[in-house]
Formats: sequence, structure tokens, C-alpha cells
Amino acid sequence: MNKITNPAFATLGLSPTLQKAVAKLEFTLPTPIQKEAIPVILEGGDLLAGAKTGSGKTLAYVAPLCQRIITNKAENVNHAKGRYVRAFILVPTRELVVQVREMVNALTENIWPGIRCLSVYGGVKLESQGRAMAHGVDILVGTPQRVLELAKQEALRFNKLETLVVDEADRLMDSHFKESLDQIVNYLPNSRQNLLFTATFPDVIRPIVRHWLDQPTIINLYSEEDSKHIKQTTLSVSKTRKVDALVKLLNKSDWKQVLIFCNAKKTCDRVKAKLGDAGIEAGVLHANKAQKERLTSLTDFQSGKLRLLIATDIVARGLDITELPCVINYELPRIANDFTHRCGRTGRAGQGGEVISLVAESEEGHLLNIEKQLGIEIG
Ligand code: ADP
Ligand code: MG
Repeated sequence: MNKITNPAFATLGLSPTLQKAVAKLEFTLPTPIQKEAIPVILEGGDLLAGAKTGSGKTLAYVAPLCQRIITNKAENVNHAKGRYVRAFILVPTRELVVQVREMVNALTENIWPGIRCLSVYGGVKLESQGRAMAHGVDILVGTPQRVLELAKQEALRFNKLETLVVDEADRLMDSHFKESLDQIVNYLPNSRQNLLFTATFPDVIRPIVRHWLDQPTIINLYSEEDSKHIKQTTLSVSKTRKVDALVKLLNKSDWKQVLIFCNAKKTCDRVKAKLGDAGIEAGVLHANKAQKERLTSLTDFQSGKLRLLIATDIVARGLDITELPCVINYELPRIANDFTHRCGRTGRAGQGGEVISLVAESEEGHLLNIEKQLGIEIG
């Protein structure tokens, strides 16, 4: 594309440099969340932004963040030396770190002088990530545990931090991550810009949000209508016959690809083995797999090389799989909001999608519970 500027993004305040970078991704019109969030972020204010899965939240924060880094860098040529971090993007899984990093790379590859970005997550040697911090970074993308380890060792320092982004904020603020998050916040300077992005907004995070944010702009673009482009079906099937039902579904359909969710790691492995017995090949992704294997399964699935992927909810959050036509819930997730996130892997960027949930008799009460909590009808 030889377009120099991108008028629709120009009106949001993005500089010609960033407009050009966005145009290279062949995005001509901003999505609603991008329209609303970009000007707020450029102005330096705090933000709580809710918008559905697949609506372009990543670019909504990465683009203005890069612009602020470039602008502030130009204003302050003698910027801090050492292990500083200027912007910190926190996400819940390693795979999301990689995905966000790719967006940063895509937007900054032709920017000079460059923006230094570092991604850190577990399963990779701590020392090498610590060394990479030696001269400071403009943007750090990481998972809570690893960032905390690096902060404790003083391998990185947050005293120059300008902006904190928490993507998948509701997940990072739930009980699983809360303790790490509180500890991380203790390392951050009080005066900073906070940007929280989420596709689901459980009430329990409201007090935390109030405590954290300073006169935030609140954008809530979520509506129940949003998920209507995803077709929902349930299939009543006894627990012992779920694999058979799955085999039947996969054999009779011509879905280009299917993502299958199970609640437990060992269920993923068991379902993979049983599908294998039926002559159906599938990849598996869960937290007990080696990091290299996790990334290979995901890349193969994202590139279309792998047709079926069986995964736990670590894949439910944020991952962008282009044109994924179908998600199957081998079992219903324990937490209602996870249902929304699982479904959100299909029907992205305005496309259609289909979700099929296999529901055993013992799960029927839970199904009603999820429907009630989410205010939707599943099937
Ligand atoms: P979310 O974080 O809201 O779930 P993502 O940031 O992962 O969504 O974006 C979903 C998809 O939409 C990605 O493939 C992304 O490249 C694409 N996308 C983002 N912004 C635009 C845009 N302005 N126009 C077209 N596609 C876009
Ligand atoms: Mg996202």
C-alpha cells in the first residue's frame, strides 16, 4: 500500500508516522473502540475500556502508546539510562505476550529512531531476559509472574514508568492473579497513566478499578447484541459419550478449523488420544506443555497447518485466530465469563462464527447459571 496517510486515523490524533504504520496493516477505518480510546490515551488520561472480543482493542492501545513514546522521547532527548521501562503492558498468558509484541513490532518496524520493546514470560531463562533489560526498554510486554521475578531481582526498574496497560483486566484482577498484581503495583510509581482493557466486566473488579484509576474515562461498548453474530448450539450428551459425539460432529462437518475447549489439562490429553484412536489428528495446548510446544501448536493452528486444537482456558483469552469458524465446548467452563472469552475466538473482526457446547445432564443447572449470569441464551 503506497498510501502515506490514513485520514480516518488522522482525525483521532494519530501522527503521520503512526497513520502510515496502521495503513501498512491495511486497516483503513478504526473500529469503535479505537475511535473512542485513541484520543483519550493520546491526551494522557486514565481509561477503563470495555469492548467485545475481536473488536481491535490491541491496536487501540498500542498505536497511541507508541506515539506518546516517540513524542516524549523527542521532548526529552536525555532520557534515563539503565534498566528503565517507559510503558508496561501486562497480559495473562505467554501466548498473548507474543501476540501483543507482534502488534508492537508491526507498528514500529519502520519507525526511526526505533522503539525498544521487550517481551518476558515464564518457561524461558530468567537471566537472558534480565540481560536484555540492561539498557532499558520503551515498552515491556509481560505476564505477572515473570515481571515480578525480574522486578524483585532489580533486573528492571519502574521508576521511569509513564504508562501501565492491563489487557484482559478482569482476568488479571481475579483471585488467581490478584496477589501478583498487587505486588507489581508496589513497584510502580504512583503518578502514571493507567489503561485497563476488558471484554467482560464482572462487578467484583469495580472497587479495584476505583482504587487504581485517577478520574478515568470509562468506555463501555459492550452490548448483548454484540454476540448475536455467533451462532450458539447445545448438544445434550451423556458424559461417557462425549468423545463419540465429538467424533461424529467433526466427521460430518466441513469446518476449516475447530478449537475445542476442555476444563482440565488431563481431559485435553485424553480427548486427543481418543480422537487419535478414531483417526482424527489434533494438537493440544495447556500449561503442562513445554513453552516451545505451546508456541508451535498455536502458530500451526493460527497458520491453518493444524485443523484441530484442544485447549484449556489459557487459549480462551485474547488470542486472535483469523477466520476460525467453530469453537466446541467439550464441557462448559466453570466461570461464566470464560464462556464469553471462549466464544470470542470465533466471529472476530466482524465475521460470523459458530459455538457448539456439549452438555451432560449434570451440567444443565450450570448451563442455566451461565445463561443467567451472561444474560444470553446459549441453546
Ligand atoms: P480484541 O483485543 O478486541 O479481542 P484484537 O485486537 O485481537 O481484538 O483484534 C481482532 C482482529 O481485528 C485482529 O486480527 C486485528 O488485526 C483486527 N483489526 C484490528 N483493528 C482493525 C481495523 N481498524 N480494521 C480491520 N481489522 C482490524
Ligand atoms: Mg485483546
